[in-house]
Amino acid sequence: MKKELRILIVIFICLMIGFLFSLKVTEEQNDKNLIQNYTYSSQNSVDKDNYIAKPSEKAIEYQNKKVAVWVTRIILSIAIPALFLFTGFSSRIRNYIQNRSRIFLFIIIAYFILYYAISTLISLPLDYYSGYILKHLYGLSNQTFAKWFEDYLKSFVITLIAGSLFIWIPYVLIKKSPSHWWLYLGMLLIPVMFFVTLISPVYIDPIFNKYEKMQDSNLENKIYEEINRTTIENCKVYQVNKSVDTKEMNAYMTGVFNTKRIVLWDTTIKNLNQREILGIVAHEMGHYLMGHVWKAIIFAGVSSIFILYLINGSALWIISKSGGIFGFTKLHDIAALPLIVLLLNIFMFASAPISNAYSRYTEREADRFELELTKDNEATLSSTIKLHEESLILPTTGIIYKLWNYDHPTFQERVEFASKYKPWEENKPLKYKRYIK
Ligand SMILES: [Zn+2]
Repeated sequence: MKKELRILIVIFICLMIGFLFSLKVTEEQNDKNLIQNYTYSSQNSVDKDNYIAKPSEKAIEYQNKKVAVWVTRIILSIAIPALFLFTGFSSRIRNYIQNRSRIFLFIIIAYFILYYAISTLISLPLDYYSGYILKHLYGLSNQTFAKWFEDYLKSFVITLIAGSLFIWIPYVLIKKSPSHWWLYLGMLLIPVMFFVTLISPVYIDPIFNKYEKMQDSNLENKIYEEINRTTIENCKVYQVNKSVDTKEMNAYMTGVFNTKRIVLWDTTIKNLNQREILGIVAHEMGHYLMGHVWKAIIFAGVSSIFILYLINGSALWIISKSGGIFGFTKLHDIAALPLIVLLLNIFMFASAPISNAYSRYTEREADRFELELTKDNEATLSSTIKLHEESLILPTTGIIYKLWNYDHPTFQERVEFASKYKPWEENKPLKYKRYIK
């Protein structure tokens, strides 16, 4: 290994330590501020629905555990591929497969399956803790262990099958066009993401949960009436039995053409009143009308071209400075897969604040549309409060955690917006009048 590469690794480790240290400091500061600033307690208020209560100790504790899980996940996402590389394990797996077959396709698929299975096995304890133990510990989950394990196994198998079917594409591209593969692969990803968005609500999502027609027909009529007040056509409304998995609430609008649908988690229907549900549906329609789904795909496509370009440049540099210690000298060698995964994880981590900032912007605009359509600030306020408090989400978090994890504005920001945004009372024009009939 050459000196430049060693220096780079040392700089990277120092940066990560600095990052973790600032995360710890900002989170502790936030906990302190929360305890000092939120003196209001929900038990003795007259207007309970419209204020943020002082966060419970339980909620603060839960946030601290979520931070710990996130930190462990970051470390694993770097440590697992790094171990494959630096111990020479990666090239040993390749040799093992190559001694049994010379077929390019077979070597690639067999390597992918082994790599994915081993890394899943290493992450399993963390996934089990964060997805099952932690949620039960804080009363956020209704899931049985059997259902959790079944869902985990299903998504493992789906990824394994999809990966085995498509892993040859990047490798053929890297081999045939070593200098421009990143561009072709990135451009290919955009239609693939559109296709996945198109088929997953119809073919993938029902693998995990049951989708059905709305059971409350009065509510269903009210929702269709609301849809008809906008420029959306041909949209269906479904409910999904998420209560087998979670106590948390959610809704979304997805699909295109005739797969267009609004889906309400049954937990949402159970816990919110009609005005609150209509507010949530309006928010989801806002996303759809403003084209947030396809814009997010274009955004992801363009950023993946950029990230793949960075991966190509940095991988070639690292290989040239490695002095052969990894046991491969070409990027199209399947033993280089952990290097690609490692760089992908690092660049995704580095770019997360940008994509989250974009997402927070679209969420604010969907909140704006919701209020412009319903003009029901009170319902938006009370549903925002219920949604956050019941999921033990704190009013604010430290800045580092927010930049890297918040794809929605914070609880406090959403409450402030919902209580202040009333342009119709001040005779100001509505921003999204064009979507409202
Ligand atoms: Zn949203």
